[in-house]
Amino acid sequence: MGELANSAASSLLPRILIIDDDPSAIQLLQAILKGHGRIYFATAGEDGLGRAQAQPPDLILLDADMPGMSGFDVCAALKSDASLAGIPVIFVTSHTNIENETRALSLGATDFISKPFSPPVVQARVRNHLLLKQHIDLLQRRAATDGLTGIANRRTFDETLDVEWRRAARRQEVLSLLLLDVDYFKRFNDIYGHPAGDECLRAVAGVLAATAKRPGDLAARYGGEEFAVLLPNTDKAAAMVIAEGLCAHIRHLGIPHAQSEVAAYVTISVGTASMVVPCTDQPERPIRCPECVAYTQCMDGPAALVRAADQGLYLAKTSGRNRVACGL
Ligand code: GH3
Ligand code: MG
Ligand code: MG
Repeated sequence: MGELANSAASSLLPRILIIDDDPSAIQLLQAILKGHGRIYFATAGEDGLGRAQAQPPDLILLDADMPGMSGFDVCAALKSDASLAGIPVIFVTSHTNIENETRALSLGATDFISKPFSPPVVQARVRNHLLLKQHIDLLQRRAATDGLTGIANRRTFDETLDVEWRRAARRQEVLSLLLLDVDYFKRFNDIYGHPAGDECLRAVAGVLAATAKRPGDLAARYGGEEFAVLLPNTDKAAAMVIAEGLCAHIRHLGIPHAQSEVAAYVTISVGTASMVVPCTDQPERPIRCPECVAYTQCMDGPAALVRAADQGLYLAKTSGRNRVACGL
């Protein structure tokens, strides 16, 4: 029991990666930083980079002088990788001179620790940078998340759509999008009040988040009472099945809606669109899109997918609500 509680508490600790070719320096830092984080290490630059990629840490302590890939090389590689560039890097060096400091700082290093180590200085610097990283992570999470529902916000949706569109183009895969809108939601607010409306939106978002579970899937609040679900590598038929499932799931939440004209409960309408994204690397080789009626729409970028899903949503609304319609 105690052990379980301990391991749960330690899994909340930040991760610190030490990269140093001198095992005794690693041992010493490990002892100094006991209790400050979960420490893992590598004794070569290449290995350290691999470990950072496999399991991104919250802080890296990086030896400047290593045979093979030096600390400077590792730092440059980290900073050129968008997914690792935000990790603070503290250089550990026995040769603190202006030239080395300038080089490391201009590569994006955060700070320096000099050998021989002064334990209180090492602890204080590590604590400060971990705290700063924690604040930055929190701000980034908030900037990406919708405050009411806790799922991704519109900004994250737009950015992810762009990334997934390009990924789909590289791999020649189908990308599907669902746009959802709560039916007669204005009336819901009018009769049950705005706080109940907010609660309803949270419930809908919960269902979407639980559905968009595969890596790459994204459920987002698109705006107001509209939501989007991005489904990479999902074809038209599979997207329709997921959309129908969502409709049923929301209905089965059984949130009473006395003023709805389509059901006694809250319902949603869903528009779907699925596109085979043309490979932009080979524009001279036109690829026929089996999913699209109009091939030219494919070439239009991610906006075409949103437009098509929106057409589907319009169709679902005008043909009776509480249903799914395909925009393409
Ligand atoms: P339709 O079936 O055609 O979609 O009708 P509707 O009433 O759902 O559509 P309309 O666009 O007229 O109304 C949307 C409503 O959503 C109006 C707005 O007050 C409400 N809404 C938007 N954002 C929020 C929110 O954050 N919280 C709450 N409670 N309501 C919201
Ligand atoms: Mg709406
Ligand atoms: Mg609505």
